Amino acid sequence: NYKSTVSITVVGASGDLAKKKIFPALFALYYEGWLPEHFTVVGYARSKMTDTELRTMVYKTLTCRVDQRENCAEKIDKFLERCFYHSGQYDSLENFAELDKNLKKHEAGRVSNRLFYLSIPPNIFINAVKCASLSASAANGWTRVIVEKPFGRDSESSGALTKALKQYLDEDQIFRIDHYLGKELVENLSVLRFSNLVFEPLWSRQYIRNVQFIFSEDFGTEGRGGYFDHYGIMRNIMQNHLLQIMALFAMETPVSLDAEDIRNEKVKVLRSMRPLVFDDVVIGQYKGDSRGGVSYPGYTDDKTVPKDSLTPTFAAASFFIDNSRWDGVPFLMKAGKALHTRRAEIRVQFKHVPGNIYNRDIGTDFDLTTNELVIRVQPDEGIYLKINNKVPGLGMRLDRGHLNLLYSARYSHEIPDAYERLLLDAIEGERRLFIRSDELDAAWSLFTPVLRELEEKKIKPEYYLYGSRGPKGAHDLASRFYVQWGDLREED
Ligand code: NAP
Repeated sequence: NYKSTVSITVVGASGDLAKKKIFPALFALYYEGWLPEHFTVVGYARSKMTDTELRTMVYKTLTCRVDQRENCAEKIDKFLERCFYHSGQYDSLENFAELDKNLKKHEAGRVSNRLFYLSIPPNIFINAVKCASLSASAANGWTRVIVEKPFGRDSESSGALTKALKQYLDEDQIFRIDHYLGKELVENLSVLRFSNLVFEPLWSRQYIRNVQFIFSEDFGTEGRGGYFDHYGIMRNIMQNHLLQIMALFAMETPVSLDAEDIRNEKVKVLRSMRPLVFDDVVIGQYKGDSRGGVSYPGYTDDKTVPKDSLTPTFAAASFFIDNSRWDGVPFLMKAGKALHTRRAEIRVQFKHVPGNIYNRDIGTDFDLTTNELVIRVQPDEGIYLKINNKVPGLGMRLDRGHLNLLYSARYSHEIPDAYERLLLDAIEGERRLFIRSDELDAAWSLFTPVLRELEEKKIKPEYYLYGSRGPKGAHDLASRFYVQWGDLREED
């Protein structure tokens, strides 16, 4: 309402994430009319900047999407008029008290709601939360804090972070962001499953043979491996993004779409999973290659990475969920950098049709005739179902056809960035797509023992060439369950 206002403080405004994602997402929300009538965006960081300099910096990051071209320049100007800068330290109660005064000036006596987006390195999270909470909380509206990954490195450090955050904030003020949850196809997962009769009854061990969660990047750390080296691919992609998708995929039907009902179901399914053990995991690291006159650097050629680093840039893992729905179904995960392609997808491989009378005519491999549902999260968002189909003609020959829902062909508007969805939800107090602390604990307890073992035993990753399909070990892991990775089949 017009008597209230939202102040969004981007803490770490001079940084990469703020420029790349946060300011552009805020502008896109403004353009579409999603932000409240009165709002203020304040950049906070140590760097010295004037309001004008911040606006110039933000201006360079803004673009209008194809469907946002109308009045774009005018909208940008209006948005920038609402952006301000405040310089200060992250551990200074005084500096945050000055920020508080500055915010009050812009809030001009309205009911103030305040959102702090912590876009800073994790070692300064707690200080910043403390100062924001003690010196700059909203006087009469809500105060919320968005926290970016990493949420610790293992169960203990994550628990310590949660405990420290809770000294200053209640659970419902903490918005732990996992930007994969803001991706359109991930949000659609529940719609696909719970609102389509053709899928819901099939979603169990009775019909599904295995499920695969695949993430690959076709580039390496490219000189920015310092942060990554401390975490590795299992912490950076699997324990959070892929596991979150897996929980949404496998959870039971929530009582309602309410955030707590959904998060309760996610926690339940996470707690039904067996923690990973050493044998469930394969790790890899890319090494340099040269092809066609181009040379591609290995991971340890990155100057920000120690020469003897054993940090995995690739991992594959097999999970089992010990509940009646999923007993015995392998859930496979695979994530890697510097691979042959860039994609994130979910692949559901169904069982074969019992007593299929066509088997004889198709050939030898059962698996080639089973249905597969592919949910492509990025790029080229889409959903397709592979079915057996008769090749037109007088003979009886079958091949695989795709029932294909390619988003770019079906929907004319561009898909909003995940950060837009998540920022809007945080402003509106919608917690569905944010990680609750018990979810985080459950997620870490699945990974912590094996991460510790890999590090303590200094297990060497299996090397793979930059731009390849990853180490052979991933293939061997899947074969143990008589499974092929769907993304490595010829027809894909
Ligand atoms: P960043 O650029 O390294 O840091 C953000 C800002 O924090 C810097 O501009 C700097 O501002 C301040 N800062 C940096 N190092 C500091 C230090 N040692 N002590 C005190 N202040 C320091 O980080 P980012 O890439 O924007 O990421 C921000 C957060 O988001 C991190 O937690 C990161 O893990 C997470 N994240 C980033 C991405 C991404 O794509 N970049 C993706 C997912 C999650 P001043 O010097 O002006 O104070």
